[in-house]
Amino acid sequence: MKRKLSVLALLAAISMPAWAGECEVTIEGNDALQFNLKSIVVPKACDRFNVTLEHTGKLGRQVMGHNFVLGLTADQMAINADGMQAGAASDYVKADDPRVIAASKLIGGGESTTVEIPVGKLEAGASYTYFCSFPGHAAVMKGTLELGG
Ligand code: ZN
Repeated sequence: MKRKLSVLALLAAISMPAWAGECEVTIEGNDALQFNLKSIVVPKACDRFNVTLEHTGKLGRQVMGHNFVLGLTADQMAINADGMQAGAASDYVKADDPRVIAASKLIGGGESTTVEIPVGKLEAGASYTYFCSFPGHAAVMKGTLELGG
């Protein structure tokens, strides 16, 4: 009986409306400076798009912190440089940086955080890059994001 109940719970979870799964994505970061996704396409039908960052490693945020920062690809280097200046107290993101479209908090191993992307700020055909702004991570921890059809 107990088993049957858990199967029902699972079916209920699977049968959620399709759009609920399309306007969100989960990305993992690990202790080896890797994101598990190289690109993300945001459907333009979504008003908002939630990105959940999961740190699957074991190291703390002071030594292996990860965040999810999104901006135009052309702005990535400048956003990253200013974020490094802002320092750990600001989660390596400059406060009120108008070039930053979305930025999560900085997390360590075993933690997760969700950030919302305002889809209305994305333009079709523009090239966006998401990256981790922890010092030294952006060179390898990055991927491209675009507004899809
Ligand atoms: Zn990182």
